[in-house]
Amino acid sequence: MLEVVGLSKSYGTGASATHAVQCLEFAVEELEFVGIVGPSGAGKTTLLKCMAGLLAPTSGQTLLRGKPVTGPPPELAVVFQDYSRSLFAWMTVRRNVLLPLTNKPEIRDPARVADEALAAVGLKGFEEHYPWQLSGGMQQRVAIARALAYQPKVLLMDEPFASVDAQTRAELEDLVLRVREQFGVTIVLVTHDIDEAVYMSDRVVILSRPPSTVQEILPIDLPRPRDQVDTKALPEFASLRARIYEAIMQPAAAAGV
Ligand code: ADP
Repeated sequence: MLEVVGLSKSYGTGASATHAVQCLEFAVEELEFVGIVGPSGAGKTTLLKCMAGLLAPTSGQTLLRGKPVTGPPPELAVVFQDYSRSLFAWMTVRRNVLLPLTNKPEIRDPARVADEALAAVGLKGFEEHYPWQLSGGMQQRVAIARALAYQPKVLLMDEPFASVDAQTRAELEDLVLRVREQFGVTIVLVTHDIDEAVYMSDRVVILSRPPSTVQEILPIDLPRPRDQVDTKALPEFASLRARIYEAIMQPAAAAGV
């Protein structure tokens, strides 16, 4: 579905350039859930923006169904961390969800699609509210509903639960796993939270310290459906978590940091 091929991105030029990611290579299968983890500053957001066509790589490319991504593809949606900046305060919840659908004339009844997406994320009855009348977790649900209503084939998520409390975070993780089953969508999730990556993913791509490369790709063979208590109590969960933690910490120890 998605292929990242020799992707490098540097900011600036010459001696002062920041080499965020270097020659990244991995692929995401159709309907797969891939988590991307790495230390802070490892270029996770940079990578996601390049995959979304929002940022031009310095070299290499992303292929979506074999075609190079040169701008935001119509079959792809992105959910960012900062819901307060991604929703329009002067628009109702329903109008926020409807907005991107103006780009999708093939959706015949956008109001119905928007309301179904809002119902899927548990926001039935809040369609006429404004974002500022909702809690942080509810606002992030609106952002997720907006992405789902758009009916993307691929959903890229950048730390989508980082700004909410722990309980809401767990609820939103389960919500995304449920709607993924319901809507059949390929998901790439960037997170700094190792537990979250293991809990949600089919495979986890571990980035090294900057300039980042793909250090390891780890299959997560935990049974589905996953459960916040039962899955996290499995010995396999603990060993996968420890494995990723070690991989992330290893280069720092080697470098004496
Ligand atoms: P992560 O998401 O893993 O924390 P980022 O992709 O945000 O990493 O950043 C990777 C590196 O690129 C960091 O050193 C960061 O300072 C730098 N960087 C990110 N965006 C820009 C930008 N627009 N201009 C210059 N440097 C940037």
